Amino acid sequence: MGIIPLVDLRRQHHKLSNRILAEIKSLLERGDFIQGRKTREFEQQFARYCGTIHGIGVGSGTDALFWALKAVGVVPGDTVITAANTFVATALAIHFTGAQVRLVDVDENSYNMTGKLLESSIQEAIAYGESVKAIVPVHLYGRSCPMDAIMAIAEKYNLKVVEDACQSHGSKFFCETIHEEGQRVGSFGDAACFSFYPGKNLGGIGDGGMVVTNNTEIAEKVRLFSNYGSVEKYIHQIKGGNSRLDTIQAAVLLIKLPYLDEWNKERQRLADHYRKLISKCSILLLNIIVPENLKNDEHVYHLFVVRAQQRDELLVYLQKHGIMAGIHYPVPIHLQKAFHEYNYQIGDFPITECLAGEILSLPLFPGMQDEEVATVVETLNRFYSR
Ligand SMILES: *Cc1c(COP(=O)(O)O)cnc(C)c1O
Repeated sequence: MGIIPLVDLRRQHHKLSNRILAEIKSLLERGDFIQGRKTREFEQQFARYCGTIHGIGVGSGTDALFWALKAVGVVPGDTVITAANTFVATALAIHFTGAQVRLVDVDENSYNMTGKLLESSIQEAIAYGESVKAIVPVHLYGRSCPMDAIMAIAEKYNLKVVEDACQSHGSKFFCETIHEEGQRVGSFGDAACFSFYPGKNLGGIGDGGMVVTNNTEIAEKVRLFSNYGSVEKYIHQIKGGNSRLDTIQAAVLLIKLPYLDEWNKERQRLADHYRKLISKCSILLLNIIVPENLKNDEHVYHLFVVRAQQRDELLVYLQKHGIMAGIHYPVPIHLQKAFHEYNYQIGDFPITECLAGEILSLPLFPGMQDEEVATVVETLNRFYSR
């Protein structure tokens, strides 16, 4: 048995590589690299996929968050609330707008922010006299946050919502007030941000990102901000930066988008297979907690994150046996040196901290074989049976 990688993109690209190469060749021949027709086409298709009117391609998911926050009106001195359990980029994007990053702990079953935790953080911020402007719910690992509760709280406190959907392309949330088919993440907030980093559920062959929104004013602002503050070449209405989705990435993403639902279904099937094999084994049931299918959301398993006893020893054991598991993420944001000025302490976000010590991402990606899932589960079993 060879190595089982955490993610193997080659298996996803194998059957598409001829089309991708032909597309790149034709862009080379046309000399079409930045803000091309393919970029506009992909923006429209991806926005439609999410159920939004506008899509604005940008250079990365981090840039999408930064410019979306600016476009909804975040200014230096504001407070922006996000989850303590997230990839560092969420907090970095908030920080670089000049706003204060206010973290909230997460729920131990969904690993995401909840309405209850969010509201108590807002009340605490108000009590401290902070000017709370926006919330960034993070749909981490492929699972939607409880968007009914979060949107209701945003309305109650008059806050903007910028969804971080960088790990959740295609994931849905269900609740009584929306139709039974559910609604895709990215279509709830004032704006939402996606990353097309190659390893994401929908990824390019380089960096890329997008802001989607139903709000025309926000869309126009992001468009201006990300293109030197200019719509007409060499005419600058405001001071903007340079962050665009290049034509090659857009062309590749256009080829890949029609497969996204299929790939997400495959991820769900692999997750079910893990659950089935793990549930058959009493030793594993004692030592591992698998992510459950919750009734309000459709998880798209960007990562298959379990909680494991003796996690660090297990990770080394798996690696020694050719299984490339990972930890997302080993050090929570509030305990990162980069955020030392906030003076957060150990114990400030107990669930996030507990998760950081137990979580383990097992290999899961489109193209993974059932036998490989079985090998991972057998190896877990051998570890706990020693
Ligand atoms: C990947 C990711 C980002 C940043 O996206 P980039 O394209 O890498 O800049 C932001 N937030 C989350 C939750 C992510 O997973």
